[in-house]
Amino acid sequence: MSATVIDGKKIAAEIRAEAKIEAAELIANGTQPCLVVVLVGEDPASKAYVGSKVKACEETGIKSLKITRPSDTSEEALISEIDRLNADGSVHGILVQLPLPKHINEDRITERIDPAKDVDGFHPVNVGKLSIGMDCLTPCTPTGIPEMIVRSGIEISGKHAVVIGRSNIVGKPMMSLLVQKGEKANCTITCCHSGTKDLAHHTKQADILIAAIGVPEFVKADMVKPGATVIDVGINRVDDASVAKGYKLVGDVDYANVEPIAGAITPVPGGVGPMTVAMLMKNTVKAARMLS
Ligand code: NAD
Repeated sequence: MSATVIDGKKIAAEIRAEAKIEAAELIANGTQPCLVVVLVGEDPASKAYVGSKVKACEETGIKSLKITRPSDTSEEALISEIDRLNADGSVHGILVQLPLPKHINEDRITERIDPAKDVDGFHPVNVGKLSIGMDCLTPCTPTGIPEMIVRSGIEISGKHAVVIGRSNIVGKPMMSLLVQKGEKANCTITCCHSGTKDLAHHTKQADILIAAIGVPEFVKADMVKPGATVIDVGINRVDDASVAKGYKLVGDVDYANVEPIAGAITPVPGGVGPMTVAMLMKNTVKAARMLS
């Protein structure tokens, strides 16, 4: 048996096409959705992520502005920039690319963004609203995961989902999303993390196993229940002398050995990654609709 490979690129393209139609409707009604991405410093991965977000905006009919600041930008200067964007009625989404340089307190920056423009869904107001099931802007990466499962024809409701990882960006919001009532949720949830004892005992119970650990090929075949849906959030660079750039990207799942026993699986790259940008487009359109 081999798994259904969940095509994140294809599903992301569908979602981006939907966001494009929604953006066009807003434009027809006099609102051009606008996302501002703020990049502090020169981190190459962050630069690449920002580049792909700006390009996606162009393709979706969303106006995008990129603000770049040097790595020695002060916290106060960044806060002033956010205040200016919060007050600007033509801006609907504000995204400050993380991680920030060490001298800037990320929590202070996240809390400064107007929750109505918080297209990353990291503001405590949005985190709280999500946890009590209120409509809000939710973090892009975990929000894309139920979408890609359901759009692949796999039922989620009533399933046991095991999430490995408890970060504020992926693991915790993933739990909050899946535990809600609804067709794309309604799961029984187990969350595993670095303090979990006998991890494999828990992961083997999963109908849906979501790996957000940040350790290359951490999830082995003997940790997976045959037939499970395996979602690999990890993006890890590992050395590879056989390619010109000297590295390749691998996920948190040992794909070669897990794929033959899984029911469905996401590849890396081409799985969860493209969904994140697609959900950012959806969130920006949603913010523009809420603010217009
Ligand atoms: P993080 O480092 O903030 O969190 C990792 C989590 O894994 C922690 O909560 C920790 O408790 C858990 N963990 C670590 N070692 C463990 C172990 N031995 N056993 C059990 N749990 C363990 O990372 P993150 O921001 O949540 O990201 C996780 C991965 O997902 C990374 O590879 C990251 O690059 C990737 N990521 C991808 C996207 C995307 O768009 N595809 C978005 C965000 C993050």
